[in-house]
Amino acid sequence: MAADPQGSVAQLKGIGPKLQETLERLGIYRLLDLLIHLPARYQDRSKITPLSALRAGEEAFVEGEIIGSKIAFGRSRSLEVLISDGHRDLRLRFFHFNKAQQRNLEAGKYVRAFGNVAFIGRHLAMAHPEYQIFDETPQPPKPELIPVYPTTQGLGQARLRNLTRALQLLSWPTEAGTPFEKLLYLHKPDDLKRIDEVTEALALDELCAYYVVMKRRALKRRKQQALALPQKAGLGRQLRDNLAFQLTRAQGRVIRETLADLENDVPMLRLVQGDVGSGKTIVAAFAAIRAIEHGCQTAVMAPTELLAEQHQLNFQQWLEPLGIRVALLTGQMSAKAQREVLADIENGEVQVVIGTHALFQDKVVFNKLALVIIDEQHRFGVHQRMALQNKGAFPHQLVMTATPIPRTLTMTLYADMDVSVIDELPKGRQPITTHTAAQSKRDELIARLAQILNQGQQAYWVCTLIEPSEEIEALSAEEAFGLLTQALPNAKVALLHGRMKGDEKVEVMRAFKAGDYQLLVATTVVEVGVDVPNATHMFIENAERLGLAQLHQLRGRVGRGSLASRCFLLFKPGVSQTGQHRLNALRESQDGFYLAEQDLKLRGPGDILGTRQSGEQSFKIADLGEHAHLMPRVVKRSEALLTAPQGSDDHAYLLRLLNTWAASDNEHLSV
Ligand code: ADP
Ligand code: MG
Repeated sequence: MAADPQGSVAQLKGIGPKLQETLERLGIYRLLDLLIHLPARYQDRSKITPLSALRAGEEAFVEGEIIGSKIAFGRSRSLEVLISDGHRDLRLRFFHFNKAQQRNLEAGKYVRAFGNVAFIGRHLAMAHPEYQIFDETPQPPKPELIPVYPTTQGLGQARLRNLTRALQLLSWPTEAGTPFEKLLYLHKPDDLKRIDEVTEALALDELCAYYVVMKRRALKRRKQQALALPQKAGLGRQLRDNLAFQLTRAQGRVIRETLADLENDVPMLRLVQGDVGSGKTIVAAFAAIRAIEHGCQTAVMAPTELLAEQHQLNFQQWLEPLGIRVALLTGQMSAKAQREVLADIENGEVQVVIGTHALFQDKVVFNKLALVIIDEQHRFGVHQRMALQNKGAFPHQLVMTATPIPRTLTMTLYADMDVSVIDELPKGRQPITTHTAAQSKRDELIARLAQILNQGQQAYWVCTLIEPSEEIEALSAEEAFGLLTQALPNAKVALLHGRMKGDEKVEVMRAFKAGDYQLLVATTVVEVGVDVPNATHMFIENAERLGLAQLHQLRGRVGRGSLASRCFLLFKPGVSQTGQHRLNALRESQDGFYLAEQDLKLRGPGDILGTRQSGEQSFKIADLGEHAHLMPRVVKRSEALLTAPQGSDDHAYLLRLLNTWAASDNEHLSV
């Protein structure tokens, strides 16, 4: 049968409503989704392991004659089948079994099994292995690479394999070298090396498709009309003269780049990348002023209430002396307060609106929105960005991020944007000295903490959990709070975590900033953007559980004033090698871009610079860590494609790729 890649997966034999629902949990709706649901790894079933060579903790392919079987009554009832290969025995254990299964596994038959080897009691055993039964000694196995898929509860590997095997039987479109052949190969490969080659080729295709879409989107945007905002009243100069500090050269450059964009009637889409503490917020304020000089409004989006509140304080401090009205709009505000702000936004009384997701509500109607500023953009999906954009005609957009992304990746991931980099920290910033310390040294660190609190400085104590967990051995914020309030009876200690109500969080943060608390025990909610210059010490519990980018962000909460700052990374004994490298890298460097490069080298798949998790860039095949080296080729091939005459083979191929897997599920890829 001819397959329509966009057709429902339900047309495959054996998929009923229940299985369909289970598949949907894996994001599989269309045939194509199943085709792109690629194996996480493969089992090499080309070699039988002799039973005498089995080791606990390994996966193995074994065979032997069935010596006997019995029902064992341990903690739960199980079927135990003893097999032997003439030298050694092995127990196969089944906790769920039926009568037929029990009858089939009878003495004298041969069995070939694949599974995990572990000790059960004193004996090596394999618990619920996959197996086949033979009446006689079986022929040597055909070398086979068996796919192992990411799956979900209620869907076993065998079932998934049956489904992807069914895909092989369909006839897929074949024009102009579609990706289907390569995808089908990955479900039924015969050579490990070839798997890597095919995966890489597909990753290249996918990244090119992404790049082309981004570039096209940029072209489309450039055809739109925005309000030109040329230089005007000189409010910017006033702001500059009022500032308590001098702008860095990098800030000056990025402000100029931004303002130059705003002079055009082409909608700006500029990404400002700058390490934590590099001073991105003031750049946003200068852009806002330009819009306001022209009688227009600016919306500032922050990812959390905490940050929105903090931005409001900053913008008020900077802009209200210039006669500009700044308002806050968050979901936590009372209905009445919201209504008032909404009215002022609509009638134009308010010129700068700072908010969280609440800004996306339909009832937010701007009087004349000319500029949208998005802080920490990796926290938002592109989809949301669009939703706000549609509020005004075509506002300019300024997007700010502290997620350091290596240049090679920026070219591709942000191909639709212009990029400015603040590559300099404000003068007078004290470097942050970073130490690593075993948990066992906690008491000494607390003694140190007591000293610095006595000197009037403030500190953070960050934990990875809110409350103690059975599964994860780590000091929770609640435990740390108890411990520290006891150890520091004279100190004013606050607790902050994500499960607290929004206004409670904001209140704690405000009090900490005001110096009412000396020590803030928190979860990683303080990771992004929080700015308290008097806080000089950062203690991070179980640093081994956090990624480099995240640790760097957390550390960036200190070193914001003129006092020397320190960061202590506490770790649990027995940190993995990678974990150690990560902590060492952090100790050695404070340069976010350097750390991002290290992160790419060190990290395991699936933990990309905090960007992948957010759903902003979700690739089906490409792995930014593994495939970063492809970027120059991505740019070259895509640029050639964008200028090449339509109709070349490569053009047709990429178009197909775009139209197929980019189509419905990944709105950020749709052209
Ligand atoms: P980030 O880039 O992490 O968002 P912020 O904009 O929050 O950084 O700035 C961090 C702190 O540095 C703020 O207190 C801000 O007022 C201050 N700051 C910004 N620019 C300068 C500068 N040129 N000199 C001194 N302090 C600055
Ligand atoms: Mg910031």
